[in-house]
Amino acid sequence: MQDFNVIIIGGGPIGIACGLEAKKKGLSYLIIEKGPIVNSLFNYPINMQFFSSSEKLEIDEIPFISKEAKPKRNEALEYYRRIVTSNNLNIQLFEKVEKVKKESEKFNVVTSKASYSASNIIVATGFYDLPNTLNIPGEDLPKVSHYYKDPHFYASQKLAVVGASNSAIDAALECYRKGADVTLIIRGPEVGQRVKYWVRPDIINRINEGSIKAYYNATVKEIRETEIDIETTEGKITLENDFVLALTGYMPNFDFLRKLGIELSNDEKLLPNYNPDSMESNVKGIYLAGVICGGMETHKWFIENSRIHAPVIVDAILQNTSE
Ligand SMILES: Cc1cc2nc3c(=O)[nH]c(=O)nc-3n(C[C@H](O)[C@H](O)[C@H](O)COP(=O)(O)OP(=O)(O)OC[C@H]3O[C@@H](n4cnc5c(N)ncnc54)[C@H](O)[C@@H]3O)c2cc1C
Repeated sequence: MQDFNVIIIGGGPIGIACGLEAKKKGLSYLIIEKGPIVNSLFNYPINMQFFSSSEKLEIDEIPFISKEAKPKRNEALEYYRRIVTSNNLNIQLFEKVEKVKKESEKFNVVTSKASYSASNIIVATGFYDLPNTLNIPGEDLPKVSHYYKDPHFYASQKLAVVGASNSAIDAALECYRKGADVTLIIRGPEVGQRVKYWVRPDIINRINEGSIKAYYNATVKEIRETEIDIETTEGKITLENDFVLALTGYMPNFDFLRKLGIELSNDEKLLPNYNPDSMESNVKGIYLAGVICGGMETHKWFIENSRIHAPVIVDAILQNTSE
């Protein structure tokens, strides 16, 4: 069985940053990614533009050149892919980590394809795999999706977009501009305050002029083949509908963390237990990196502010190894 100083679970931007740092500092390492390189970014909407400017998404100070100040998804795919290939990072793709078990001093890592042994584990599994579901009848119909990809698909269709944050607002605007008949269903009283500052006026103006319909303080109650029911302050309304995009956020895989023995806070935030000085969790030898550290607070950590986790963790591993 192959043995490493550290196995990194997840080949997103932060997992890659950890691999690069481990390589630089002379640790043997393996990144295991269940999809392609930066799988989450690969699954983002095709026209997606980051809210961060490119230099804030850089890892290890490797320059990220983009056409505009804020890069697009395809530029980020290119950037992170080139980092992996030109640095010859040790990464296994399309291989899912299924189980991690401590056996004496080492961790035994079982994946969909093989087993490995490692002295340390970095969990950098992100939050994009599990959507926050609506839990209503009809949510499992094929016309309902929790992921948005391409506006062309919705042209000339009656589309309900559920949500009020960046993903929902970007999808509503793009689909409207490709000829969809868009209705926004917003649980609160307004478009989210975190919506990108240059996008928020656009959506508010489209709603005010009636190009996009919006129901505030409204929730979807049932989805059927050609209609949806929504509950509003004025009672129940039934709308004709072809497709539903339920873009109500995502959450980390908490079961996976629990199985690793990582403690979560007892409140609704489900914050994982780790030492912010080393990023080591309550399980000795298991470190947390990237957006996973925020539990249900998925807006707390992002690439910009969590790329620093890589040097912090690798330094902590080196210090623990030399003790
Ligand atoms: C639409 C959108 C726009 C965003 N814009 C920005 C922005 O402008 N700036 C910014 O800083 N952040 C932005 N973010 C957030 C940013 O994308 C995330 O913070 C970032 O992806 C976090 O990186 P990560 O490496 O922690 O997690 P991820 O990128 O999610 O990587 C986790 C990886 O782990 C893999 N994985 C999960 N489970 C397993 C397993 N069991 N075995 C093997 N592999 C596994 C996944 O496939 C995934 O590739 C945006 C997010 C979204 C959704």
